Amino acid sequence: MTRISEVSADVFDPTEPLAELHTHLGGSVPTHILWEIAHATGVATGVGDYWEFEARVAVPDEGVDGLDPLDDIYHLTERIQSSPDAVERAVHALISGGYRKQRITTVEVRFNPAKRNRSAEIDLDHVVLAACRAVDRAAIEYPAVRAGVVLMCDRTFSPELNEIIVDKAIRWSDRGVVGIDLGGPRPHPGRYDYAGHAASFAEAHAADVGVTVHCGEDGDPDEIGEVVEALRPHRIGHGVLAHRDRSVLQTVIDAGVVFEWCPTSNLRTGVFDSVDELSDAYGSMLAAGARATVSTDGPEMMRTQLRDEYALLVGAGVFDADAARAANALAHDVSFAPPVR
Ligand SMILES: [Zn+2]
Repeated sequence: MTRISEVSADVFDPTEPLAELHTHLGGSVPTHILWEIAHATGVATGVGDYWEFEARVAVPDEGVDGLDPLDDIYHLTERIQSSPDAVERAVHALISGGYRKQRITTVEVRFNPAKRNRSAEIDLDHVVLAACRAVDRAAIEYPAVRAGVVLMCDRTFSPELNEIIVDKAIRWSDRGVVGIDLGGPRPHPGRYDYAGHAASFAEAHAADVGVTVHCGEDGDPDEIGEVVEALRPHRIGHGVLAHRDRSVLQTVIDAGVVFEWCPTSNLRTGVFDSVDELSDAYGSMLAAGARATVSTDGPEMMRTQLRDEYALLVGAGVFDADAARAANALAHDVSFAPPVR
């Protein structure tokens, strides 16, 4: 099996502005900042030592078995990010660090506000406002950066709570929220009722709020087709299992939906067992006409950086240098974030 670390190539000039569309707040804040936030706000981390903490909030190099272990990491980081101040500091660290370290000038920050409000003790509006304030502060400090907030709904939430999150996204859409997402563990066994969100997501569309949905990372590829039909997303988070079903892939392509690919994440969680397998899957989707962007899913949690993701894909033969540049240009293009002011 080809290891991630064996695949590397320089793709972009160091000053090339990059775009990252798919990165979770719970996996994107530098570990030392997360540690300091926990101590500043008095949140119990459950560990006595920084290095133990570091091991708890990232996926190990050898990877994990499926998506459930990611949820365990998120529970800890979400708990630490569960106050308006913590959210503001975390969002600001993500945007500012991404620009300084990777020259990311187009960035969307996604998180679930209802997993950061201490079981409804904190008003959701204050959590969302804190994120928007961080976007505004970063815009003053780094004027080249265009950033936006994507609020996540969750498959384990009631339809009513997810509707509240969509309503918040619409309400805050003139202040920094640019999109909605639906993620979280899929029911097993059983199928998730995507159509149950059709009316609520249609309201988001009507309000010009961007729509992306996590699917096709595990489960049946058919689900991707259901999502496209019921929720009309602009983009799909991952969606890589579409390579197994040509008619589903064609549905995504015909609908003009853009994939958000996170290759290292797919390898670390075992969606693909090897770089070769990933390369075959991604390559077949591109050959069929799929449009795809590249992200990390959360650089800290996945122990990668955006430029490494491109290097991996070029090294694996999925992209040549022109295709990598085109994917980055596409990400700038299809971002929900507003132009710089
Ligand atoms: Zn994700």
